Amino acid sequence: LLAEDLDADHTAQSLLSDEESAFQLGPQLNGPDRPLPAELFVELFEAHAQRRPEAIAATHNDTRWTYRDLDDKANHIAHALLDRGLRDEDVVAVVMERNLDWLAAALAVFKAGGVYLPVRPDFPPGRIATQLRRSDCRFAVTEPGSDAVLHAATADRDCSIVVAQETYGDDRRGNPGVPIRPEQPAYIYFTSGSTGEPKGAMCEHAGMLNHLFMKVDDMALGAGDVVTQTASQCFDISLWQLMAPLLVGGGTHIVDTDAQLDVTRFIDLLAAGGVQVIQIVPAYLDVMLSHLERDRRALGDLRSVSVTGEALKLGLVQRWFALYPGIALVNAYGATEVSDDTMHAVLDRVPDRDLAIVSVGRSLRNVNTYILDEQQRLVPLGAPGEIAFSGVCVGRGYVNDPERTRQAFTTDAYRPGTRLYRTGDFGRWLPEGTIEFLGRRDEQVKIRGFRIEIGEIENRLLQMPGVREAAVVIDGQSDQTKNLVAFFTGPDALQPADLRDFLAAALPEYMVPAYFHRLDALPLTENGKTNKKHLVGLAGTY
Ligand code: ADP
Repeated sequence: LLAEDLDADHTAQSLLSDEESAFQLGPQLNGPDRPLPAELFVELFEAHAQRRPEAIAATHNDTRWTYRDLDDKANHIAHALLDRGLRDEDVVAVVMERNLDWLAAALAVFKAGGVYLPVRPDFPPGRIATQLRRSDCRFAVTEPGSDAVLHAATADRDCSIVVAQETYGDDRRGNPGVPIRPEQPAYIYFTSGSTGEPKGAMCEHAGMLNHLFMKVDDMALGAGDVVTQTASQCFDISLWQLMAPLLVGGGTHIVDTDAQLDVTRFIDLLAAGGVQVIQIVPAYLDVMLSHLERDRRALGDLRSVSVTGEALKLGLVQRWFALYPGIALVNAYGATEVSDDTMHAVLDRVPDRDLAIVSVGRSLRNVNTYILDEQQRLVPLGAPGEIAFSGVCVGRGYVNDPERTRQAFTTDAYRPGTRLYRTGDFGRWLPEGTIEFLGRRDEQVKIRGFRIEIGEIENRLLQMPGVREAAVVIDGQSDQTKNLVAFFTGPDALQPADLRDFLAAALPEYMVPAYFHRLDALPLTENGKTNKKHLVGLAGTY
């Protein structure tokens, strides 16, 4: 069951006064309606590949692929998948490191009409197995070196595995020409789930393309422009970093994780020129700024820095423009469930409004934005409420997970027949038609941009034999220094190192707390709940 099957329990006009509808449905607040072109991503890319086959589509270290190279390799992989019986809407796991073959594999899945499911080869095999099982995945593309984890994860199921590089020698065949419908699912990204299991958000081709065009618009991407690909495969951000430049004849430059972790290398890369657009998380901008403030550098052809994933503090914006008044900052806000970003604040200077957290800006094309109360009614201008989106951006829901889909997805009461996603974020409208972000309703957090449900970590901790109670909090104020800290109760014999190993066997490394502390009992609030505020205070004292 997916969101589109759900019934709205109220109808459009019943909840709206004329004034509200004029306000909320006004063109200033919703994104402009812009029809999508008749062609979807694959056709638009293939048209570029035909027109300018020698243009550079993608680079990684010293390797450069032209549009022809990329198209050709993707065609080989796509045909290999089709030869193995892939049909429309079959899910294909792509278990690869971030490299050019990964890009070819992702493109191949779209070309073959499959649903792209990116999987990080360094994830624990059990987690990979859960993702494949949950999404009924029977096809995978991998590469030598990443294949072992895939074999382990598919040991007990039927999965047809294609090694990308092995297909390149096959007889050359052209575009597979599989017709794709706008409402066809394009991809699934798994995010952490509070009930203990990751959930797979599924989005459609039309939503994906709509988002790619937003990036093209607001970063003014054009032929020859280069975007760096820095985000992890398991982030939807990685998708636009790869694909948006390919819509307009630009290129993507895949930056190895090592070269990012060493921020001076990343700065060198920008300073060397040839990169126009980057997207990073606030924690990374903070690290970059610390370096650049000590050693100010010219940043080559850099034109636009998009910051995303977490609240963008005014202090970072001030620091940026103090150094680089000519390079725009874009605060990009959205969620995996709505095909990535739905709002942008495009800044060319420090905003006039003195908010500690800068606004997330305006709704993007074809995006309807609401701020709702608990009964899903519109709140008055300026009042806090939950941010919700409807329109082509809203994905299908969580794959094979009707319960959690029902909790977050419903239909838009103001536009019958349109899916609506409630983000779990609080916000309020500012008079100029932008939104101030006010934090989360639940325990979803971000650590260095990675989306984490605290409940998933706590659930896992409670499965460790001996652990009686567990609670996880975030310690640290700055984006750079934030850490997860776990508290537990249980016998003395239970050692933090054992807990760490136990979690690391099931969770990605970014979900494993940095510290574990045993307590005799967890502190409680007056009404008997775990007192997390107290634990946050305690975390700071160790
Ligand atoms: P993305 O689509 O960017 O990958 P995720 O699905 O990982 O996003 O996380 C979505 C959540 O991240 C949002 O619901 C919000 O809580 C937070 N978030 C994302 N961007 C911003 C931003 N610019 N400012 C504040 N919070 C943000």
